[in-house]
Amino acid sequence: MRGTPRVVVIGAGVGGLVAALDLAVRGADVTVLERAATPGGKLREVSAGGAAIDAGPTVFTMRWVFDEIFAAAGTRLADHLSLVPAEILARHAWSAGERLDLFADARRSEEAIGAFAGAAEARGFREFCARAKGIWKTLEGPFIRARRPTPVSLVRGAGLRGLPDMWRISPFATLWSALGDHFSDIRLRQLFGRYATYAGSSPFLAPATLMLIAHVEQDGVWLVEGGMHRIARALSDLLAAKGGRVRYGAHVAAIETANGRASGVTLADGERISADAVVFNGDPAALATGLLGGAVRAGTPPVPPAARSLSALTWAMQARVSGFPLLRHSVFFSSDYPAEFEQLFRGGRLPGAPTVYVCAQDRGAADAAAPDGAERLLCLVNAPANGDAHTFTDAEIAGCETATFSLLTACGLALDRVATVLTTPARFNALFPATGGALYGQAVHGAMASFRRPGARSRIPGLYLAGGGTHPGAGVPMAALSGRLAASSVLEDLASTGMSRRAAMRGGTSTR
Ligand SMILES: Cc1cc2nc3c(=O)[nH]c(=O)nc-3n(C[C@H](O)[C@H](O)[C@H](O)COP(=O)(O)OP(=O)(O)OC[C@H]3O[C@@H](n4cnc5c(N)ncnc54)[C@H](O)[C@@H]3O)c2cc1C
Repeated sequence: MRGTPRVVVIGAGVGGLVAALDLAVRGADVTVLERAATPGGKLREVSAGGAAIDAGPTVFTMRWVFDEIFAAAGTRLADHLSLVPAEILARHAWSAGERLDLFADARRSEEAIGAFAGAAEARGFREFCARAKGIWKTLEGPFIRARRPTPVSLVRGAGLRGLPDMWRISPFATLWSALGDHFSDIRLRQLFGRYATYAGSSPFLAPATLMLIAHVEQDGVWLVEGGMHRIARALSDLLAAKGGRVRYGAHVAAIETANGRASGVTLADGERISADAVVFNGDPAALATGLLGGAVRAGTPPVPPAARSLSALTWAMQARVSGFPLLRHSVFFSSDYPAEFEQLFRGGRLPGAPTVYVCAQDRGAADAAAPDGAERLLCLVNAPANGDAHTFTDAEIAGCETATFSLLTACGLALDRVATVLTTPARFNALFPATGGALYGQAVHGAMASFRRPGARSRIPGLYLAGGGTHPGAGVPMAALSGRLAASSVLEDLASTGMSRRAAMRGGTSTR
C-alpha cells in the first residue's frame, strides 16, 4: 500500500482550487496545472487604463460555503478575506423615474415594493420569499450538498412526509409563470425572473425551482474588499501554505490512462506528470470534444450547443459617472423581456434591447458620494454562447453597445469612459475551451436539466470533475461545493482501492 497519493488538478478556477485545498489538507500531494498566468479562471481581473477591474463574478453569496472550507483547513475565512455585508442588495431601474432597491432586510424590501408597486405586490413579495425559502430548505441537503442526486434519490430522501415539499419545489412550472402567482406588476416579474440568469438560463424556460436563488441572495450578499479576485488569491495562498503547488502557464494537452484508469497528464510542451487521480476543473464538455485527448473522450456525455447556458458581453472600464446614484450592484431592465430571451436562446443573437447589469466596484452597497474622478465599472449584458461558431462583427457589437449605453442614458446614468476592455463570447470561448463562451455550464431549462450535469466522478476511473459545469452547478459557491465533492470522491476511491491509507485516515469532508 502506497503512502501519499499524488493528485493532479487541471485548472485553478474556484472548483479546482477548493478541490486541491481539501486534498492537500487531507494529506495528498497536489499539483494544480493552470494554463493562464493567474488563479481564478472566470473569477478574473482585467486591466483597463492601468486599473485592475473585477471582470467575472461580482455578487458573493453563500458565505458559509467558504467558512466551512477555511475551517476544514484549520483557519478562518475572516483571517484571509475582508467581507462586508451589503445592506442594499441591488438597485433596479426601468426608466429615469422608476427605481427600486432590494435590501438585506426583507421588511425594508417589502416596504420599498409597496411604495413602488402597491400593497398587493408587497404581499406577493412576502409570499414569494416564503416559497423561495421553502424550496431552498427542501433542496439544500438532498440536492445541493448531495453527491449525485437523481429525481429518484430526491423523492426517496424526502420520504412520504417530504413528498408535499418535493411538489412545492415546482419543477414543472417555469420561473416566469410561477412569478405570476405572486406579482402582477411585470417589472417585479422581470426583477425576480432575472435570477434565472445567475444560472445562465432564461426565466421563460427555467423551472420555478430557481427562485431559490432569490432566497440565497436574501440570505446575504457580501462585498469582498479589494475585489472578488481576492477570493482566488486567498485560496491559492492557503493551498501553498498547506503544501500544494500551482503551476501557471501549464496547458494540459492530454489526460493519460493506463489499464482504463486516469494515470496522469501531458502538457502542451510534452512534459508528462503521473498521478493516482486527476481532477478536471475545465468545462466537462472539453472531454467529449477530445480537447484532452482521445483516452478520456468518453469521460462525460457531449453537451449539444443548444444546451449551453448564457455567455456575456462585458465592458470593464474606467469612467466618470454622473446622474444616476449607482450602488455596487445596479440593474437596468429592457422594456421587452420575452424578446430579449427569444433573441438570446432561439435567435443566437445579441439582444436588440438588452437588460444591463453594472458593478461599481469602488462603491459600497449604500448610497454614498461617487468617487472623485474615474471609477472602475463592469457593465454586462447577456449574450448567446456561440463563440466557437460565430464571431460577432464590429457592427453587431456596436449595435448592442449603442443599445446598452442608450438604456443607461435613458435611466439617467451618464458615463464618460476613459478606458474600456470588451470581452465577447468568442473571447470567453478562447479562455474556457469547449464552452462556446457559456459561463455557467449547461442551461437549467426544464425539470430534468439539473440532473443532467455530471457529478464529481467521470465515466473514467481515476478522473474527477469539479467546477460550475458539474453538480451542483454554476456560481462561485456552487463551484466551490463541487470542488469539495470531487476531493472527497478522490479520497474515498483511493482509500477503497488501497492506494492511500494515509489520506483516508485523516477523516472526511462532510458530504452526503
Ligand atoms: C462575467 C461573469 C459574471 C459572473 N457573475 C457571477 C456572480 O456574480 N456570482 C457568482 O457566484 N458567479 C458568477 N459567475 C459564475 C462564476 O464565475 C463561475 O461559476 C465560477 O467561477 C466557475 O468556477 P470553475 O470552478 O468552474 O472554474 P473556471 O472559472 O471555469 O476555471 C477553470 C480553469 O481551468 C483552466 N483550464 C481549462 N482547461 C485547461 C487545460 N487544458 N489546462 C490547464 N488549465 C485549464 C482555465 O484556464 C480556468 O482557469 C460569473 C461568471 C462570469 C464569467
